[in-house]
Amino acid sequence: MSGATVTRFAPSPTGRLHLGHGFSAIRAQDFARGAGGRFLLRFEDIDAGRVREEYYAGIEEDLAWLGLDWDGEPMRQSERFDAYRAALETLKTRGLVYPCFCTRKEIAAEIAASASAPHGVDGPFYPGTCRGIDRRDAERRLAEEEFAWRLDMEKAAALAGPLFWEDSALGRIAARPELHGDVVLTRKDAPASYNLAVTVDDAFQGITDIVRGNDLIASTDVHRLLQHLLGLPVPRYHHHVLITDEEGKRLSKRDDARSLATLRAAGWDGAEVAAALRADVPNISPFT
Ligand code: GLU
Repeated sequence: MSGATVTRFAPSPTGRLHLGHGFSAIRAQDFARGAGGRFLLRFEDIDAGRVREEYYAGIEEDLAWLGLDWDGEPMRQSERFDAYRAALETLKTRGLVYPCFCTRKEIAAEIAASASAPHGVDGPFYPGTCRGIDRRDAERRLAEEEFAWRLDMEKAAALAGPLFWEDSALGRIAARPELHGDVVLTRKDAPASYNLAVTVDDAFQGITDIVRGNDLIASTDVHRLLQHLLGLPVPRYHHHVLITDEEGKRLSKRDDARSLATLRAAGWDGAEVAAALRADVPNISPFT
């Protein structure tokens, strides 16, 4: 593999890291280092309501405790709003987005009332209520109401035609973005959704190989479509298994017992924990 390999670990500073994050970060770093490449750290801190300042340093401390070592200064998505706005403008110019004024409650009511609500990977998706709003009406409402910009999925997917992505574990995958419906790209109070920001930033940081948990496999369909629409390079993907607790449940940030900070406070040695995670054990029972 070439020295140009670049991977990243992209946590949200909304809590401390747990063993699952550690596992993912180690895999991303080892992949890059094994190829003589670079490993970057990116804070996905768009959700200002959930982000807490102390978690930036806390996460760096957790990673350093495991012996991880990223290249350069960590990037913050909260400093990239102009780039997300520019991406949205590109999609607007191409007529691929529309403003949506529906509240969550209205969407839920509409789905409940319709026997044939479209279903996708995560259950019923947005039924497209605002897609047909008259342009002048929409312009007036933009100034007065809360709104989100949504991707017109049918139009975008038709324009793109068949798209594929490569995964080292899964092989060549045909993207099915239409299973996600008209995804939200930005909201009035949030400059980018996860899908938009991650796509724009992976390209901006020159990420060649995306190493992350397999809970994000489905989202890759949307990322692949956005890459195409925005003219961005397509990275290779390496989705890995998630480590789980003894009952097979995914770890979550609320699962304090398995946070790296808790293990550290309990006297565990970071290098030993990292070695155990490198042994590729998807179940964390050895630690409990
Ligand atoms: N920020 C995402 C998370 O914490 C990870 C995004 C990604 O790896 O694509 O789950």
